[in-house]
Formats: sequence, C-alpha cells, structure tokens
Amino acid sequence: SYGAEDNRVLGIPGENLLGVYTARAFVGWYNGLPENRDLKPDLSCETALILGHGNVALDIARILLSPLQLLRKTDITDSSLAALACSKVKRVWLVGRRGPLQVAFTIKELREMINLPGARAVLDPADFTGLESAVKDAPRPRKRLTELMIKTALEKPVEMQAATAGTAAPREWGLKFQRSPQEVLPSADGRRARGIRMALTCLEGSGDSAKAIPTGDVEELECGLVLSSIGYRSLPLDPAVPFDSQRGIIPNSSGRVEGVPGLYCSGWVKRGPTGVIITTMNDSFDTAQSVLEDLQRGVLDISPSREGFGLVESILHSRGVRPVSFSDWEKIDAAEVARGKAAGKPREKIVDPEEMLRIIGH
Ligand code: NAP
Repeated sequence: SYGAEDNRVLGIPGENLLGVYTARAFVGWYNGLPENRDLKPDLSCETALILGHGNVALDIARILLSPLQLLRKTDITDSSLAALACSKVKRVWLVGRRGPLQVAFTIKELREMINLPGARAVLDPADFTGLESAVKDAPRPRKRLTELMIKTALEKPVEMQAATAGTAAPREWGLKFQRSPQEVLPSADGRRARGIRMALTCLEGSGDSAKAIPTGDVEELECGLVLSSIGYRSLPLDPAVPFDSQRGIIPNSSGRVEGVPGLYCSGWVKRGPTGVIITTMNDSFDTAQSVLEDLQRGVLDISPSREGFGLVESILHSRGVRPVSFSDWEKIDAAEVARGKAAGKPREKIVDPEEMLRIIGH
C-alpha cells in the first residue's frame, strides 16, 4: 500500500528546460516535502501553462493564483509563501489533449477554482457548443461538471467583473481543449522555456474512451512556466514483488498479488493513481475482504505463531537502522503545530530531515 511516488513523463523535446517542472515536484515544494524543498521554481513570468486536466492541475492553478492572505492561513511552507509573494504569474492556462467531456477533475475542485477571489475564469463558449444535449444522459457527476463549465463560459463579463471587483491586479485562468503537447520551445539562449508547441487534436470515439488524434495542425503558446500534471506513477518495491511496469501497478486480483500467495496490495499501487480519498478507502476494504476470505477458505496458513513486527525490528536493528516510530512522529507533529501557532497557521512544516531527527533525539 505504498502509493505512487513517481510521475508520468511527457517524453517531448524541451521537457528538461529551465522553467519546466513536474506537478509532483511543484506540489511537493509548496507542501514542504523534504525532497522538493530546493526546487525554487522561477515565478518571474506572467503566463504559466499546466498540462493536464486533473485535480492536481487545478490544485496548482489555485496555488499560483490565490491571494496571499488566503494562503497565509494554510499550512503552506513559509519559504513557498515568500516565493509566491514575489510571483509575477497572473495568467494560468490548463491544457488538455481531449475535450470538455473528458476532463479528469471533479466539480468541487472546479467550483473552488471558479470562486477564487481575484481570479477570472476565461472559458471559450465555442468549446461547449452542443454539449448540453450531449450530456443529457451522462452519469450525474459528468453532467453537473459539464453544466458548471458551460455556465461559467456563458457568464457575462460584467458579472465576472463584479465577482473580482475591489481586488488587486486582475488574474485569470482558463481551460484549453484538444491540444496535445509536442515540444517545449526554448528561449533564444536555448536554456529556458519560452512557450510550447501543441498538436491540435480531434476526438475519435466518444465519452471517457474517446481518443485524441492529431489533426496535423499545430499551435504555439507563449509561457515562461510549464507544469506537467499528467499523472503519478508507482515504482517497483523489490525484485520479489511482481510489478507491471507498463501499467505501473502490482498485478493483482482484488488485492491478491499474482503469483505470491499471502501477499496483498491496496491503494494506488493496486489500481493506478486515480480516485479521491474515498475511492482509496473502499479499495482497501476490498483488499481486506480478500484477506478475510482467504483466511476463511484456509488459503492462508495461520497455524504457526509468528513474531510479527518484532522480527522486522530486529532486522532493522541488525542493519543499524533506527526507525522513526509513531510516537516519534507525534513529537515532530507537535513541534510543527507549535511553530505554526505563532504565525496563525495550522502548522509550519519542517522540511529538513536532520532537524526532524534532532527533535526526536536521534
Ligand atoms: P488525473 O486525474 O489522472 O489527470 C491526468 C490528466 O493528464 C488527464 O487530463 C490526462 O488526460 C492528462 N494526460 C495524461 N497523459 C498525458 C499526456 N501524455 N499528454 C497530455 N495529457 C496527458 O491525475 P492527477 O490530476 O495527477 O490526479 C491523480 C488523482 O488524485 C486523481 O484521481 C485526482 O482526482 C486525485 N486528486 C484529488 C484531489 C482532491 O480530491 N481534491 C486533489 C488532487 C488529486 P487524458 O484523460 O486524456 O489521459
């Protein structure tokens, strides 16, 4: 149940230029993940482009455009807040390779973005022509999500102005559809991103399974910041645990790892990096059900008594590893909450692992 700690890669030229970041690293940076603390994203441009139409893409757009006074009350790290305070980004495009009926984000997250103070949604009504009737018989969540996009696209500018009145420099964001990233374009000195070339696509098929096929036309868009938010990816754990590197999961049937009786998996490493927390929770119930069934059917040999975690502990000890226990973590947690209190935040995250170890006396 170890999740997905890597990300999918675009595999296009220019992906490694300065100014191009993966969503995973960017999210890790503002969330205080030690491995991403030195990312220091360059926010000196006015236009950012996020590739992907998932909830992570919306999360990033929201962070880039949120008023500082809102962010200040969250557990975002102080250093990310300082960087965002100097940010020049005022326009964010979220670009998807398929259409409005295939977006992967969900309504709650879209609504939060639409209601973000000081930021105006720029949706092109032409992108939604005929969609109202197309979603008439779609499942309710898809129908409501599409209706919200249509409503937002058709909102009169005057209503939008009223919503953003009295706020600082106008910021805006929008959705672009049927554009597949082809190349991140380099600046004159060849070092940084100055834009992106996208292949325009048409859809083959309909609904969730529609495929984006390049039409042969391309479009270039200027932007100084590119964030690729095209999904996460699990990594293999150990040669003894089977791994399907094509699908990025542990091959399993209802959580039973294929070919390894007695081993089970759950969460994103079982199903792939999709779904919200409740999906992952239900998924673990499904795996637990498999364990119970196997116990009842006598498939699992539970006759000999086993040492349990004590055995793991002695292996760690023999290798000189000092594990961090739950009560250790509680000390770090308490220290973070205490530091946050002074600044009126839920917590101030500690991003240096050495400092965490000092707190627990390691
Ligand atoms: P996601 O929902 O799978 O979205 C990935 C997006 O990237 C899709 O729009 C996908 O388009 C696009 N994409 C994939 N490969 C691409 C490529 N090669 N070129 C261009 N576009 C590509 O992934 P996510 O946003 O990383 O989120 C992961 C999971 O966490 C999701 O289930 C999400 O709902 C969940 N999450 C939830 C919350 C929340 O509850 N607030 C917050 C964050 C994340 P196609 O559909 O065309 O493949």
